[in-house]
Amino acid sequence: MSTQTMLPLLYTAAALCAGTYIVFGRPRWTNKSSPSGEPVVTEEPQSYEHPFITLLVAWSMTLDAFKEWLRFTCMENADVAQATNGKAKDIWNNMLDPLFTSLAAEDGDDPPVIFMHEAGDKMEPDGVAVEWLNNLTLQLADVWSAIAYIMSVSASFDDRERTKDWYLELLMVFSILLRKIALSSSNTLEVPSVVHILWTDRRELILQPFPQNTLLTSRPQSPSPVKAVPGHALGSMPPTSILWDKLKEYRKAELESALKAADLQNNTNTFDKFTSLPAHESSNLGQCAETVPYLCVMGGGLKPGTKLYGLSFKPEWIGRAMENFEASNVDASALLLYLHPRGFMKACPSCCSVLLAMNVQYSQYKRRPNGKTLLQHLNGVNEPCGTEL
Ligand SMILES: [Zn+2]
Repeated sequence: MSTQTMLPLLYTAAALCAGTYIVFGRPRWTNKSSPSGEPVVTEEPQSYEHPFITLLVAWSMTLDAFKEWLRFTCMENADVAQATNGKAKDIWNNMLDPLFTSLAAEDGDDPPVIFMHEAGDKMEPDGVAVEWLNNLTLQLADVWSAIAYIMSVSASFDDRERTKDWYLELLMVFSILLRKIALSSSNTLEVPSVVHILWTDRRELILQPFPQNTLLTSRPQSPSPVKAVPGHALGSMPPTSILWDKLKEYRKAELESALKAADLQNNTNTFDKFTSLPAHESSNLGQCAETVPYLCVMGGGLKPGTKLYGLSFKPEWIGRAMENFEASNVDASALLLYLHPRGFMKACPSCCSVLLAMNVQYSQYKRRPNGKTLLQHLNGVNEPCGTEL
């Protein structure tokens, strides 16, 4: 079934399945008369318990509604609690609740967005450490990454068929909601310039034992019983703050040590190859939207030849789409068709170099303005999209 026909049907099914009916719903762009200038919407119910916020729901979602979705997902969603080993609660209590409390206070203080503390003569992350894909101790040290993790884990419980547009929709939803948070603050938070999603080539992504879900050469023992693990990772440029340079340095060091760990595990020399590649720009490492997704797959080593998929997207196009679609009724597929060709961004040369050195096949999902999709490889070669994920 095509995305065009599938999305409305799935949306309806999701709405019917929802248990409790509260505030957020599906927009219709009828006019632009709301005081905030946002499109006026006609709401249809979707539950806070729904694991995947759809594109249309995200479009009209208020910041309060998104905050409540995050709070519920972190604090009350039993699936997410199990899948995160209870870390979702820590993320809410330590990172997201302070962020939203600060945004609501309007006291002029900068909201807490990056969590680092001094340890001796250097700075270390002070957020929450989680297990995500191959990485057993991924440090979430900024609020965008914390939200990315929660949305990724929760989306893994969405029972719709995984298609490339499923991942694309998740990335758009992430963009829309980060943008709403950023725009709600008084000049202290910037809308991220780039967001990124990366997914694995496995179809059986959820409710499988952990080692079968991942891209490791092998891991001898499952760290926990059967549980849901997302097969994808969202990432974003962290919000700029006084600690941003420190976090960037930390993430750069993590990427380099992940490369060295992969070498030890696979008996390869990827780190040496990486540092000798012409496109290698070590100073760029750690600052990209790709950083956290890459750390998710590289943390435990990555088998050469592994297939990965993904794309980067520029959220500035969300704002332009809001202007473009304000006067008409649109559906999710029309929005995807509009946003994907315009906001697509290739992973940066440094990030491409990392995966090239690891001999990983990273195919970036791209769409032409006529709707035709293609996979763009790291070496610049394009090929038509198939049914692979
Ligand atoms: Zn990059």
